[in-house]
Amino acid sequence: MTDQKTILVTGGAGFLGSHLCDRLIAEGHEVLCLDNFFTGGKANIAHLVGNPRFELLRHDVTLPLYVEVDQIYNLACPASPIHYQHDPVQTTKTSVHGAINMLGLAKRLKCPIFQASTSEVYGDPSVHPQTEDYWGNVNPIGPRSCYDEGKRCAETLFFDYHRQHKLEIKVARIFNTYGPRMHPSDGRVVSNFIVQALKGEPITIYGDGGQTRSFCYVDDLIEGFLRLMDSPKEVTGPINLGNPGEFTMRQLAELTIELTGSKSRMAFQSLPQDDPKQRKPDITQATERLGWRPTVPLKEGLRRTIAYFDKLLAGRPDRPDSVRRLRATGGGARAAA
Ligand code: NAD
Ligand code: UDP
Ligand code: UDP
Repeated sequence: MTDQKTILVTGGAGFLGSHLCDRLIAEGHEVLCLDNFFTGGKANIAHLVGNPRFELLRHDVTLPLYVEVDQIYNLACPASPIHYQHDPVQTTKTSVHGAINMLGLAKRLKCPIFQASTSEVYGDPSVHPQTEDYWGNVNPIGPRSCYDEGKRCAETLFFDYHRQHKLEIKVARIFNTYGPRMHPSDGRVVSNFIVQALKGEPITIYGDGGQTRSFCYVDDLIEGFLRLMDSPKEVTGPINLGNPGEFTMRQLAELTIELTGSKSRMAFQSLPQDDPKQRKPDITQATERLGWRPTVPLKEGLRRTIAYFDKLLAGRPDRPDSVRRLRATGGGARAAA
């Protein structure tokens, strides 16, 4: 480690943010982890507290922030449908006001800034697999719009600050990512299925389970973040980061049942409004420009994630608060219909 930097990670106590903090600390950097703890938790970064190169700051990105750092990763935003639809106005504010404040900070500091954008900018895509030049098919007034349009507006702001103020920007479009420290009751499909399988409860499949998603293991994704941040200045993105393996939700359920050895059966429920029918990243750009491609197959990533949730449910958790919440709510809740 020759080039130690001070790096701000917004949303640093969340699922992806905490893994990013781990990786940056491991690389020898100083990390300023900012979070308002809406969906993230102190337990996710408890093992870093006390490290002299790690600092935790409770702050909301919708408010201005004056700190001195060398790089910014902007991840603050609830990511699961249940959480981002809980207070949709706050979700849009977090994406849009948060982006303005973090871009204002980057402009003053003249430092590179990374944005955690999403495959949701493609909406329910009519181009498959999705390439970065596809403009998307997004409902601007539906229940997912606070998230989708908030993230789209954030991308607009990033590119306008780049053109107008010459900011060095790095915009990643992240596809479904899973792994340890996912919130056990946030309703996302991988955590729902694993928790349900481990508890012997029915596996809730929305619709006929024929819709597809591509699942990236968290360690692969974080490697992509670092490569994008370290890429030459002219690499702005947007750049897809995800695993191009494509699975139906029924296949995911079958694999989860097989790997957990569960006796759970599948229970079919209604499909949430505007649920995209298919998702699969074209990662040609990430491969050619960053030399990046995922390395962890779904089966292996699921095994590691199952081991995490198994421990959590067995009452030997890294996150006792989550267990209590999980037991109180009876496991993964249903996404808004
Ligand atoms: P997460 O909910 O675990 O993490 C988000 C973090 O942001 C939480 O710690 C939360 O408390 C914090 N936060 C929310 N609003 C905030 C605010 N106003 N001020 C400060 N902190 C705030 O979700 P995640 O899966 O880790 O997602 C991280 C980022 O990656 C998000 O921006 C999300 O949109 C993006 N993303 C994630 C995925 C995925 O599959 N996990 C896919 C696409 C994009
Ligand atoms: N900002 C911030 N930290 C800084 C600089 C700016 O939080 O170090 C915020 C501030 O709230 C400002 C926003 O970023 O409103 C946008 O900054 P910019 O300089 O682009 O716009 P202006 O200050 O001219 O409105
Ligand atoms: N899904 C499901 N059962 C669940 C949770 C989700 O069948 O218990 C489906 C959901 O309808 C969607 C897919 O799984 O088609 C992925 O959902 P998730 O919320 O994880 O991600 P996103 O829709 O944002 O890609």
